[in-house]
Amino acid sequence: MSRFDAIKKREEELLFRTYGRYPLAVKNGKGSRLWDYDGKEYVDLLAGIAVTSLGHCHEELAQVIEQQARKLIHVSNLFYQEEQLDLAERILATCHCDEVFFCNSGAEANEAAIKLARRYHQRVKNTDAYEVISFEGCFHGRTLATVAATGQAKFQDGFAPMPEGFKQIPWGDMAEVRKAVTPRTAAIILEMVQGEGGVRPVEKAFVQELAAFCKEKGVLFIADEVQGGLCRCGKWWSFQNFGIEPDIISVAKALANGLPMGAMMAPREIAQGFAVGSHATTFGAGALVSKVADKVLEIMERDKLADRAAELGAWAMDRFRQVGANVPGAIKEVRGLGLLIGIDLTFPGKEIWEALLQKGFICNLTQGSVLRLVPALTVAKEDLEAFAVTLEGLLRERSA
Ligand SMILES: *Cc1c(COP(=O)(O)O)cnc(C)c1O
Repeated sequence: MSRFDAIKKREEELLFRTYGRYPLAVKNGKGSRLWDYDGKEYVDLLAGIAVTSLGHCHEELAQVIEQQARKLIHVSNLFYQEEQLDLAERILATCHCDEVFFCNSGAEANEAAIKLARRYHQRVKNTDAYEVISFEGCFHGRTLATVAATGQAKFQDGFAPMPEGFKQIPWGDMAEVRKAVTPRTAAIILEMVQGEGGVRPVEKAFVQELAAFCKEKGVLFIADEVQGGLCRCGKWWSFQNFGIEPDIISVAKALANGLPMGAMMAPREIAQGFAVGSHATTFGAGALVSKVADKVLEIMERDKLADRAAELGAWAMDRFRQVGANVPGAIKEVRGLGLLIGIDLTFPGKEIWEALLQKGFICNLTQGSVLRLVPALTVAKEDLEAFAVTLEGLLRERSA
């Protein structure tokens, strides 16, 4: 039995069958490279699903982890910790928000956002608004509330009843928003680029109109920046491409480059929605993860990774469109924002995705036909070029 088969068999005996795994057991990584147990090298254009934005095993982060691990790792949120404050100052300086709540994941960040929106309405504004509106194709997480917001049948299967107070409407259509909003509406939650939903960026005119409409109606605008945030879309936050200021921001994935961490931010007015005891987490923003996240943000700023994502992402999308032009009929559309890129094929993409993996390129297939690339923001242009060449070869073979 191969090492891989042995690992696969062990896992089947030991772990819940919640994951359809890729046929690859990862031994180690560095930058945008991963290696399996046979020493085969892979170009990683998935980066832990937009998590390891600085690449695998970043040397400066490894040093911070080592030093902090010998100083303090966790004491709970019963205590004051300067590491949290350093991180809070740094993250709040990237946007219009005044206060932050730290947690451990994207779903938790959205859960906190939903709770804050409801409590702000019910305890600060003294209304009985509670409903949260989301959009078809969205993804907001796997807790019961966030799965209710996510709305996709496959994520809700067997978990009935769903928590109340969630409504989903067609994506990107202001007429639908106007129809759906009532005095019961507490918040609208939106990804500027639907990641899981097939890498679909919203129209600028729609987001701006939506933000203005929310202000007019007193509905809170929650920007789910879990995937698109932290420089990936060419700005600190993907909403900053659209000239809007959401009421609540959720963030996670890249925040601690692979250590679990999430956050929820809001301007002072909205942050009043939570009082002492309203919300909490045992793990959130322990000294170690905080120190690491602080370093992640420092590096992102120092190395101007937002600008890099904007430039390299634009170049890559053009390059992939060229692949589409070279193999007519294979690529329906290349779309995205910064280094959140989708290559929408005209046919089911499983075989191409598998062949890419075989040839040493890791990406993700979403919505059946969309190759999703969310590489490290430090990825080499040469890696994206090599991917383009390989993809073109595979598409040519297929159409021959
Ligand atoms: C991944 C993701 C989430 C959920 O994050 P978890 O850390 O898996 O809970 C929520 N929203 C968006 C947009 C995501 O991409």
